[in-house]
Amino acid sequence: MGRGPLSGSAPPPPYRSELGNARHDTRSRHRCRSCGAAAVRELAQHEEITTTAIIDTETTPYNRTLVNKAVATGLLEPHHAHLPVLSAPPVRDRVQAMDPQEQTVHLRSGARVDYDALIVATGSVPRALPPGITSPAALESGRVTHLHSLDDALRVRGVLDRTPSPRVLIYGAGFIGAETAGILRDAGCRVTLAASSPIPGATAFGAQVAGQLSQAHRDTVDTHFGHALTRLELVESELHAEFTDGRVIAADLAITALGTRPHSPSPWGGAIAVDSRLRSRDHENVYAAGGVAVHETDGTTWRIDHWSDAEAQGAHAARSVLASLGRADAPGPTDPAPSTAHRSTSTSISLLDTQADSGIRAPSLPVPSFSPTTELVGSSESAAWTPAPT
Ligand SMILES: Cc1cc2nc3c(=O)[nH]c(=O)nc-3n(C[C@H](O)[C@H](O)[C@H](O)COP(=O)(O)OP(=O)(O)OC[C@H]3O[C@@H](n4cnc5c(N)ncnc54)[C@H](O)[C@@H]3O)c2cc1C
Repeated sequence: MGRGPLSGSAPPPPYRSELGNARHDTRSRHRCRSCGAAAVRELAQHEEITTTAIIDTETTPYNRTLVNKAVATGLLEPHHAHLPVLSAPPVRDRVQAMDPQEQTVHLRSGARVDYDALIVATGSVPRALPPGITSPAALESGRVTHLHSLDDALRVRGVLDRTPSPRVLIYGAGFIGAETAGILRDAGCRVTLAASSPIPGATAFGAQVAGQLSQAHRDTVDTHFGHALTRLELVESELHAEFTDGRVIAADLAITALGTRPHSPSPWGGAIAVDSRLRSRDHENVYAAGGVAVHETDGTTWRIDHWSDAEAQGAHAARSVLASLGRADAPGPTDPAPSTAHRSTSTSISLLDTQADSGIRAPSLPVPSFSPTTELVGSSESAAWTPAPT
């Protein structure tokens, strides 16, 4: 399998995030992760502001990008992905609901936290398969999973560890699905990458680039594009995945990678619409950043769920809070251009920040065996993507 836990200290993660000091006065609340941590760091520069970071009890904040790149294959242990802790202890609790009228947050413990400004950075959750596709036995087998959290990574690793030359079906050929296909192939798995679309990514990248990517997938792993998954059954100890064309693919593990949807507690229960300064469009003194925030430009709504952009948005939301409190100048509109890099089966994808003066290309991830390199240039996840000039 070419996998094995690291001994000694871990290499630095591909993206770095710092957690700042959380002792300040006029109150501002948020949950802390890539995005929340960046907001803390920004607010920490103002000692007169009290910042309270609320971090879910169940998890230690971690670098989510390492879930598929390193933890699922055993290259890193889960604790290697943990982010640095806050220097002042955060509130460890889960937010049950927020009350924008009363300007208070209700926690699972029963406690409530009042705020003058609230930054919501609760991220996203993976999109599920439609109900009824996965049989109860397949679900209970632990062989069907998303790949979004450290727990998911350990589930994947458990199946890979106990299966010689595992057959892995990945359903969904977006960023996470395609990248994971390449990673697991290199780890010794027999991978099939499947998608309902005949040319996965055509909406995001345009037909030409998506066509090149699809070809790269075909050259690298088994593919089954253009047919939707209709049923996942457990037959003895293997999964049988049935598609609309009648084909049945047998696998030891099925990973669903159907994208994410924004996630937040009540009263939103999902996306939070924000203006260009990341202020909620519906409620005073509420801000949202990262995977939970939905932006609108010229009547088009869009959302970016990328690590570096979440971090940038967290800092930007904090600067908007500071401006609203009269502690800083207004930061201006948020820059929606992510600068990030993904690997897609054998292809390295760099998303360039076209609005940055330097136009510097994001660093490629340290993964082996790139063959064709495709550069995609764009300013947001849902914008039209065009190939970079070579
Ligand atoms: C497998 C994988 C690989 C990825 N690789 C890349 C990559 O290579 N490059 C890239 O740019 N992006 C990548 N991404 C996307 C990137 O990880 C996300 O865009 C980023 O994590 C979003 O940050 P966020 O802070 O908005 O949300 P999250 O990172 O999801 O953080 C949200 C936090 O809020 C907490 N929370 C949620 N609800 C509550 C509540 N009610 N109470 C208290 N706390 C709560 C959660 O526990 C979590 O800690 C990857 C994602 C995945 C799943």
